[in-house]
Amino acid sequence: MHARELASQWHTLFNTHAENLYPGRYTAAKCLELAELALAIRARAREKNALVVAHNYVFPELHEVAALVGDSLGLSLEVARRRVPRVDFQSVYFMGATAKIITGDATRVFVPDRPQVLGCSLVFGTSHRWIEKWKEANPQGIVISYVNSDVYTKSLSDYICTSRNTHLIIAEAARQFPGRRILLAPDKFLGAVMRQKAVVEFGVDPDLIDIYTYHHQGWNACCYVHEKIGDDAAERALDEDPDAELIIHPECGCASTCLLKLEQGIIPRERAYFLSTSQMLDRARQSNAQRFLIATELGMIYRLRKELPEKTFDAVSAQATCQYMKACTLEKLLAELEGDRLEIILCDDCCDPRNPLQNDRVVHIPRSVAQRAKVGIDRMLAIK
Ligand code: SF4
Repeated sequence: MHARELASQWHTLFNTHAENLYPGRYTAAKCLELAELALAIRARAREKNALVVAHNYVFPELHEVAALVGDSLGLSLEVARRRVPRVDFQSVYFMGATAKIITGDATRVFVPDRPQVLGCSLVFGTSHRWIEKWKEANPQGIVISYVNSDVYTKSLSDYICTSRNTHLIIAEAARQFPGRRILLAPDKFLGAVMRQKAVVEFGVDPDLIDIYTYHHQGWNACCYVHEKIGDDAAERALDEDPDAELIIHPECGCASTCLLKLEQGIIPRERAYFLSTSQMLDRARQSNAQRFLIATELGMIYRLRKELPEKTFDAVSAQATCQYMKACTLEKLLAELEGDRLEIILCDDCCDPRNPLQNDRVVHIPRSVAQRAKVGIDRMLAIK
């Protein structure tokens, strides 16, 4: 395919599904520039036998060049299942690192920029020292960490969880280790929603569950994108569109208050769903509703609109965009493929695990830390 042909297709596609998400971004000239980059990327990826995968939250053009689009754990597991020699992960850094922990030496994992650039407020806001002190104070305690965390935090954890299964992991930990305290880290909104679910659905004792709420380096123990989706926005959006269903990501800033309003009957139960990004697509496919209000990062709305064009999806907040996810670009992906950088490698514990070695070509993960981190991931995967 020629660049002009692809540019014309993308101009139509992006202006149909993403114009009000990224106003003014997809001009004809921009689409031509993106199409030329995309063709070069496809050629390089073929040469290098590389699988390009993209998280739901990156820009639409990255969805289009990727062989797979999804959530972080789903992508990592699929990469491991396919046993590919090389994967180029288009997302924030910790997701590439999770793929490396899971695939080990079987797959070379590349990311488009340094960990600081491909950051995450949950990673920046996690104090390892605070978690270590909690463990010292609770020597029998069980740490459950969200998959949106750095490798060292995972290595301090007994279980890893996702926004889809946290309540199941809490219930399993409470069953396996009765009477022991449990710490949920590092997202206070996800923690609050999932503690409530575990209490209601499995009868777990809420007094045994601590939630990480520490304010570390100016970060607020939550995803800053979902935090911006304020308390009343979801309720207001439902009032304005009485036929729409509301779909909320549990990390969302309004999630715990929405859950409370749901319990109190202020938000009708049949109109609001707390779902991970992968569950959102399933719900929208199965539901009889034609209109949906989505409380998560805008990239997911592009995916929903593209996959289900017969239904309507609108953002609860037009500000819900992640600067770290949006730091992934086609230019960087091409440079990544051409220069074979930045590669995430398992080193033989040559560096400080809290501050692993990194330069323009590689980022290290000490092998012993990766092994400890994998224990919690494997425990999670064993729970159906
Ligand atoms: S959307 Fe939130 S949780 Fe996801 S990478 Fe961005 S800051 Fe982190």
